[in-house]
Amino acid sequence: MTDASHSGGVDAPPAAGTDPASGTGADVREVDDQRGALDPADPGRDVDTRVPAGEDPAARCPYCDRPFRTGRLRDLHVGQVHAEGCSEAEREAYEEADEAELDDLFFYHIKVVVLIGLLFSAFVLGYTVVLSG
Ligand SMILES: [Zn+2]
Repeated sequence: MTDASHSGGVDAPPAAGTDPASGTGADVREVDDQRGALDPADPGRDVDTRVPAGEDPAARCPYCDRPFRTGRLRDLHVGQVHAEGCSEAEREAYEEADEAELDDLFFYHIKVVVLIGLLFSAFVLGYTVVLSG
């Protein structure tokens, strides 16, 4: 009894991708996702860079000659922007740099959490002292 009302009595074929409304929604979402991401198809979209006089960049991209302060930043750039044409060694360097970046981000989050905890404790202690005195 309840089964018929649930299914409607009709086996409708899946309409994924055929509904124009849902297709538009997916397209909009895709555009939103690409806004902040690096576009491997367009390496020329990189911003103009200028190295100050008397300063030597630690590394340069072998594909687009963009200067970088560290080799790790170069490895990340090559792996993200030039992922199609990069060599196996560059791919491994990118994965190592990505891993190190995630570790740094994790420790940054730990520091922020500890700092917030210390600030909260200081406020509680301060209010306790003020209200008790
Ligand atoms: Zn490059």
